[in-house]
Amino acid sequence: MRVLIVGAGIAGPTLAYWLQRLGHEPTLVEVAPAARCGGYLVDFWGAGFDVAERMGIVPELRCSGYRLTEVRAVGRDGQRISSFAPSAFVGTGDRYVTIARSDLASAVCGASGGRIETVYGDTVKALDDDGDRVCVTFRSGARRDFDLVVGADGLHSQVRALAFGPQERFENHLGIVVAAFDVAGYRPRDELVAVMHADVGFQMLRLSLRDDLTLFLLTLRGGGDVPLDRPGEQQAMLRRGLAGAGWEVPAILDSMAEARTFYFDRVSQIRMPSWSRGRVALVGDAAACPSLLAGQGSALAMVEAFVLAAELARTDGDHVAAFAAYHARLADFLRSKQDAAKGLGLAFAPRGRVQLAVRNGVLRLLNLPRIPDLVMGRSLRDAVELPAMPVA
Ligand SMILES: Cc1cc2nc3c(=O)[nH]c(=O)nc-3n(C[C@H](O)[C@H](O)[C@H](O)COP(=O)(O)OP(=O)(O)OC[C@H]3O[C@@H](n4cnc5c(N)ncnc54)[C@H](O)[C@@H]3O)c2cc1C
Repeated sequence: MRVLIVGAGIAGPTLAYWLQRLGHEPTLVEVAPAARCGGYLVDFWGAGFDVAERMGIVPELRCSGYRLTEVRAVGRDGQRISSFAPSAFVGTGDRYVTIARSDLASAVCGASGGRIETVYGDTVKALDDDGDRVCVTFRSGARRDFDLVVGADGLHSQVRALAFGPQERFENHLGIVVAAFDVAGYRPRDELVAVMHADVGFQMLRLSLRDDLTLFLLTLRGGGDVPLDRPGEQQAMLRRGLAGAGWEVPAILDSMAEARTFYFDRVSQIRMPSWSRGRVALVGDAAACPSLLAGQGSALAMVEAFVLAAELARTDGDHVAAFAAYHARLADFLRSKQDAAKGLGLAFAPRGRVQLAVRNGVLRLLNLPRIPDLVMGRSLRDAVELPAMPVA
């Protein structure tokens, strides 16, 4: 089957890899002019790690990623509130890595060895599903027919908008915005330590990277109406929101002007009753974004792509049956991840003094055995079994 996959992030290239292995003809179209680099880091673990292993990319992920030794929470004056190992969250063992999202995407793309047709700098403008095929009109003006179209184009999916309706219908904004930016030469540095400071309304996290770079990740209450395409207004909003903040926040805000990359978005979830319509389906954040609060969206995106490919194989290309089975297998699991993530907003941006005190109190306890499981048990476990894939 000829399958157009829109979006070359995490889910798209994973799906393309498996479809090609199964003998299909995937084409990837990516709106960015080239593979994206930089951006924020993700913790990568859980069932998605198993998919990465089956794709043979784990050594590369370990090489380009980081293995953090400590997560440290500090107060206004930099005093230590709590310190614990990342394994408190993701379990012991070495089946996790902290890695730039772009490096993960690059490893997933690379797994196909350049054998997949990939078109950069274009996107879909119209989808005409006549029941037998989908006639796709691209922004460039080109028109092509495909047997299936899969939207892997993230939180603000264009495929979802074209095939299912406007984003507002499916987006659940969690009342928080996120900004991530990296700066060269920032001091101080704490190698392999995620240092975070929260106060009422926000959390700022600092992570020292290779090549003298430092990544900052900020989650801040409010701001759902800030335009996503105007960095100037976004940065002004961050400055307003963080006026009077302690720790290194004033210096970090000063360094923002020199940021190499600047990422800003609403923290939202996508909740849909179905992920397919006719010959069009969705995967990854486009279908069921759990938000960054889940700390697992990229791994889940890979699981979804794997399951979709496996179901297309199991049903011998019967897309109606495959799409239904894909949804039936994952819907409850992803919904439980979303529900669990939603409850973590107080950790990323406490609403008031009470929530801040609760957050800090819980962080102090995280070193104790069984506490991470009690606090985050539902979101820590991946209650999903990967289906059989009829290729090694
Ligand atoms: C700040 C932050 C921190 C996070 N931390 C973690 C974490 O610790 N662990 C974790 O697992 N996950 C984390 N996530 C979530 C994770 O990044 C996403 O869930 C994951 O990237 C989803 O993969 P995807 O392929 O569905 O979408 P994306 O990775 O967003 O990829 C979508 C791709 O589609 C392209 N695209 C967009 N629109 C179009 C269009 N119209 N046409 C063509 N292409 C298009 C984009 O350019 C992009 O390449 C975090 C997210 C954020 C924002």
